[in-house]
Amino acid sequence: MSQQEIQCPCGQYIEDYSKYLLLHLKKEMGEIDILCPNEFCYLRELGFLKFGIDESGEIDFDIGRFYAPYSTWNATRITEESTVKILKQHLIDITEKLVDWDKVKKGFIPKEKEEEKREKENSETEVST
Ligand SMILES: [Zn+2]
Repeated sequence: MSQQEIQCPCGQYIEDYSKYLLLHLKKEMGEIDILCPNEFCYLRELGFLKFGIDESGEIDFDIGRFYAPYSTWNATRITEESTVKILKQHLIDITEKLVDWDKVKKGFIPKEKEEEKREKENSETEVST
């Protein structure tokens, strides 16, 4: 009779994906932080999502991951097997239901390739004999 409930090391229970907070601060870098809902949490960042934008402007999802302190904490509580299973589902749910990808797309600033064509060696080097 083990309690199959995910908990942050700070004590906050996270029943499902909707409890997480997302931080879009690094979105121009293609990264979204997954935060603990407890504002006094000493960990705060529990995981992250990484993505890119392809040439047609669509989200190209890269990777989602929870950090070790969070997953390890739960593995010792409810076994690693359950933790991996539940957290994997959390990541899927976050990606599919929690992230507002349309909003993310709009805010995404692709790195502009500034083509500064500096005239290379325009001035001929004088060859002294
Ligand atoms: Zn926490």
